[in-house]
This record gives sequence, structure tokens and C-alpha cells, in this order.
Amino acid sequence: MPPAHPFDDDKLREECGIFGVVGVQDAASFIALGLHALQHRGQEAGGIVTHDPQLGFNSARRFGYVRDNFTSSDIIESLPGPIGIGHVRYSTAGSKGQTAIRDVQPFFGEFAMGGAAIAHNGNITNANALRRELIERGSIFQSSSDSECIIHLMARSLQRNIPERMEDALRRVEGAFSVVAMTRTKLIGVRDPLGVRPLVLGKIGDGWCLASETCALDIIGAEFLREIEPGEMVVINADTGVESHFPFRPQPSKFCIFEHVYFSRPDSILGGRSVYETREAIGRELAKESPVEADLVCPVPDSGTPAAIGYSLESGIPYAMGIIRNQYMGRTFIEPTEQIRNMGVRLKLNVNRALIEGKRVILVDDSVVRGTTSRKIKEMILDAGAKEVHFRIASPPTAWPCFYGVDTPQREKLLAATMTEDEMTKHLAVDSLRFISLDGLYRAVGESQGRNKDCPQYCDACFSGEYPVTPADMVEQGFKMQPAAE
Ligand code: SF4
Repeated sequence: MPPAHPFDDDKLREECGIFGVVGVQDAASFIALGLHALQHRGQEAGGIVTHDPQLGFNSARRFGYVRDNFTSSDIIESLPGPIGIGHVRYSTAGSKGQTAIRDVQPFFGEFAMGGAAIAHNGNITNANALRRELIERGSIFQSSSDSECIIHLMARSLQRNIPERMEDALRRVEGAFSVVAMTRTKLIGVRDPLGVRPLVLGKIGDGWCLASETCALDIIGAEFLREIEPGEMVVINADTGVESHFPFRPQPSKFCIFEHVYFSRPDSILGGRSVYETREAIGRELAKESPVEADLVCPVPDSGTPAAIGYSLESGIPYAMGIIRNQYMGRTFIEPTEQIRNMGVRLKLNVNRALIEGKRVILVDDSVVRGTTSRKIKEMILDAGAKEVHFRIASPPTAWPCFYGVDTPQREKLLAATMTEDEMTKHLAVDSLRFISLDGLYRAVGESQGRNKDCPQYCDACFSGEYPVTPADMVEQGFKMQPAAE
């Protein structure tokens, strides 16, 4: 069984982390470490494929954490070779909620010119139409994952080599994709033309690596070289180095702004700046936009911490760890009883009563999704004797689902889709509730003029409802997009 999410079911969840390496001894050990550093991007399952010149391709796919599955010498020795790729997943498409092992990536295809494996982070928004077309033309799908379409499209391409077949395949695909792939000798990395999901390039000794985030380079001692550009494909050979192509029609980039707010690890570098610094800047902006008189600024652990520090620095109100997270939740209660499960948030978080009692408290959180956790945290803070509770949220109201590789509830379940800010304040029964503005968020991520409303510099669809790629499959299923502005 896949493990429960370690912390919170009231958050948006990034769905995948990807990693690849070429030109090292024992690629599998590097991949296992890289995937371990990317575990926050997917905790449900993981997989590794490697290739050895004598022993060919080998793969292992498992449910659960990387540390529990890919750290023994037995498994690493079963994955020999100097080149490989890996993937950690939650699930975006495919058998959501009850993943089968056949849906766990990387996927593998055998072509006339040799085998190839592929791991994908993102979501293909025209996957249903592609799958129908491919099945009609004779493709036999092994999984329910949208990513498998890429392998079948490659199989149908008439190009002579695997990188060119991959270009052909990805030109048919709409939506968000960062891909790492491998042949027997080449490591390939691609980002979609909008660059929605991240992918970075690193150097390790004589070898090279690709990863969703720079924290996965740090753990193996690799040097961060650069981000792969939106629409770029790199083909890396251990002997000849990195070749770069731009196979897609250029488009204005639309990187996911929520990576800055929540998904990426705070020690990763995005857009030339540490994610931690950006989150602190978000907190400062929030303090400028929505000041309130109070005695303490407390983060909702752990993701609210840098923004709370920023809010405290800007406002001059002392920062305090008013809520303590139980670090070992999820390991302690393997099969909790019903009574323990009902304790909910209290299992994960505890209020530091000695700090809170009699105080006016500002709670800083990264987002409000369903609002269920926010409500419980507020109750815990009041139970501990707080005089006032003010929520400050480091993202704008999340009012629209994401179709680009992030697990979001249906629109009706998003608190901000059905309530105004005032209604949410009453619903959560807090003294005040304020979200950072969309312009404020853009300023904090480095866009000094705020959001360019004619051509937003980022994807912000979950806040604005303006989808940079029409989610064709969802529209076909009845999803109503925001009407275009007059
Ligand atoms: S909709 Fe939101 S979470 Fe999804 S890619 Fe866009 S900004 Fe990121």
C-alpha cells in the first residue's frame, strides 16, 4: 500500500519529481539520492531504470518512500550501469487514489533502434484524445497514465533516432511536461514550450545530471549549471557533452508561480534566487499589504515558516514558533485506530501554549485550499488561550483547479471558489483573514511592476482562472473555463 501523505490533505500537492544522470559509476545510487531529495514532490511510489553496456536495461518500481525501497545494496546492485533515470510520484493522471504498479514510472519502450525509458513531471491536457487516437490505430496501453502516450507516439514516429522521435511525439502533446529520458548512451531532458514545470542541469565529475530541483543536485555534490529553458531539449552524451535544441514553436514562458510559494524546497534555487528568499519576500509583501496590530507572528509549519519570518521582519512584530510540528508523524502510527485518526490535525501539530496564551497571534500559512486545516488550527490556538487570531496567507485565494501536474480538489471543494474573503473570514471564525494580492505575489517573485495582465509572466491559473493552455480533456468532460474578459 502507498503510504499516507506525511502531513496534510488540505494542500495542493505537486505530483512528481524526476532525476537522471549519465557518465558516473553506479548511476542508481546517485538516482536514489536525487529522488530522496525530491521526495516532497511525490511520496506514493518511485522507480529507477538504468542501462549497463553488458547487462542491458534494468528497472525497479516500488510503492512507498525512496529511503525504504532504494537504499539497500541488493537493489542498487540490481540496477547496474553508468546511465539512468528515476521518478517519484503521487498521481495526477492514471489510476488516481489507487495506483497500480504498472502506472509507476519510468516507462520503457523497445524501438527498432534500441530501447528508451522516460519519466514525466506534469500533465498532458489532451491525453484522452491522444489515447483514443492511438488505441484506434492499434497501440496497446499497459497503464492508465497519460505519460504512456509519449512512448506510443514515439513508436509511431518515422524519425531515425530516439531524440528525434521524442521531438515528434512531444509536438503532439499539449499541457505541462518536464521530461527526463534515456537511451543506451544518451540522457535527454525536455521542458514544454511554456516551461510550466521545472528542470535543471548539473555537472558531477565527468558526468551530467538533470533534476526537477537543485536540492537534488546538492545531495550528490553536483554543480548547478543552469535551468533547462522553456521549450528546450538537451541530449547529453557522457563523451561529447550537452547538445541543445529548441524543437517547439517559441511561446512566452509560464512557469508555475506556485513552485515559488509552496512546491519547491526552500533550499532550491529558482530563477536565480533561493526559494527561501522568495518566500521571505512574499511575507514582507504580505506585511506591507495587510498589516495588523498583534503580539506574535507564527508560521503554520513547515511551509509557512519563511513567509512568517518575512512578515515579522517587515512588521517588527516578534516571530515565534507558536505551533510545533510532530516530525515523526506517519512513521509512528502505521495503522492508527479510528479514535487516533479522528484526532486529525492534533496528531501533526501542537500549540506551544506558553507562548500563545493571552496573545494576539498572526498565523502565516502558504495557502488555503479547502480550509479544513485552517479552521482546526485556529481552534487549537484559541483553546491555548490566544486573545485574537489573524490569518495571513502567502498566496492569493486558490479558486481554480490545476490541470498541469498538481493535485487539486474539484472547483466546488476550493473554499475560495465559493466564498469571498469576508465570507471565508466568517467561515473560519477568525479575527481577520488576508491573502497576498496577485500583483504582490508577482512583485515578491521579482517582477517589480507586478503582473502583466495582458501577458502574465507566470502560470497563475489556480488563482486567476486564466489557463495558459486550454485543458482540452477537462473541457470535454464539462469543465467551464472563466469567460474571457471583455
Ligand atoms: S495552475 Fe497553479 S499550481 Fe498549476 S501550474 Fe499553474 S500556478 Fe502552478
